[in-house]
Amino acid sequence: MSESRYTGLIGAYSDRLPLAADARPISLGEGNTPLVRLHNLTDSLGVDVALYVKYEGLNPTGSFKDRGMTVAVTQAVAEGSEAIICASTGNTSASAAAYAARAGISAFVLIPDGKIAMGKLAQAIMHGATVLQIRGNFDDGMRIVKEMAQTAPVSLVNSVNPYRLQGQKTAAFEICEALGRAPDYHCLPVGNAGNITAYWMGYSEMALAPGQTGTAACSFCQGDCQYHQQAVSTRPVMVGYQASGSAPFLRGEPVAQPETVATAIRIGAPQSWSQALAASRESGGWFDEFTDDDILETQWLLASQEGVFCEPASAVSVAGALRDIRAGRIEAGSTVVCTLTGHGLKDPDVAQRHAEAAVSTVDADADSVRRAILQRLD
Ligand SMILES: *Cc1c(COP(=O)(O)O)cnc(C)c1O
Repeated sequence: MSESRYTGLIGAYSDRLPLAADARPISLGEGNTPLVRLHNLTDSLGVDVALYVKYEGLNPTGSFKDRGMTVAVTQAVAEGSEAIICASTGNTSASAAAYAARAGISAFVLIPDGKIAMGKLAQAIMHGATVLQIRGNFDDGMRIVKEMAQTAPVSLVNSVNPYRLQGQKTAAFEICEALGRAPDYHCLPVGNAGNITAYWMGYSEMALAPGQTGTAACSFCQGDCQYHQQAVSTRPVMVGYQASGSAPFLRGEPVAQPETVATAIRIGAPQSWSQALAASRESGGWFDEFTDDDILETQWLLASQEGVFCEPASAVSVAGALRDIRAGRIEAGSTVVCTLTGHGLKDPDVAQRHAEAAVSTVDADADSVRRAILQRLD
């Protein structure tokens, strides 16, 4: 008997994912995240655009990494693996730890010295992962886990694992289904560059003229499969944004000592470098960069004016979209989607810095509180 309730990505897209039919899905109900249209931030632009955020912070562990992890861990378990390993700026380790717990296997996570958001570390620990803090940065960790996958009985679940990108491409499917078309522009933060690669793959798989047959893009049918029914005719322009202190795509080469408050994209040597460049070129897109101050300002604007709380790295996509809309690089009349990659609660320390100014202490009586209210509404 098939279940009608939503059971996660593998349930929703099994025939678009390269998993064996008898593989036991390791799922936490990831995917199916909201596509929220922004109004307050766009109204003040005075430009007619439809700007949406894909709120990936609402995945089970609070970031888009769950989309890739459900597929990667399902495949690892199907192959008989009893342990997974990853290097992580935080969210990959939180996700790997949760899906390993779900699967009943071990997780080893390598995190950079000191530079991991508190919420993410708490998750890895709570889910029972073995957390190894290395005296080095993400790029050092990446080099080591690749070697471990060769020399120790562990499966690598960073986005160099192709099953990760297969899972992550499903966000593009959901966006096309929600809009009934592909957006004109898709903006996202770029760290290791796996996600921009995965979205481009997803949009490319969706892009078939309805009724078109015999195309290389459709591996499913002769023109009448359900994918053709849902197909879209265009692909978006892919726009990638980085933090200025960690912007190898802007520098044209790896950055040895990446620095940014947006720790999720504090990566100097992106693993999916050539795929991301290809996505950018093929789609007619570009890369741009933002300072930490710009990033935090946009995080604050999204939270305080739209009710959407994302982590700093995520906000760079909206910072970029707003700037490029204002500059006319993204034309009026466009439909734009920004991926908000992770939840704001991941990084309470950074959020607190904003919040501190907003907390005022008053006496515990009605008069004092009323005075504070009236003062604020003045
Ligand atoms: C992983 C991550 C990114 C970067 O994604 P890449 O695929 O590495 O480019 C951005 N934001 C958040 C919140 C992340 O967890």
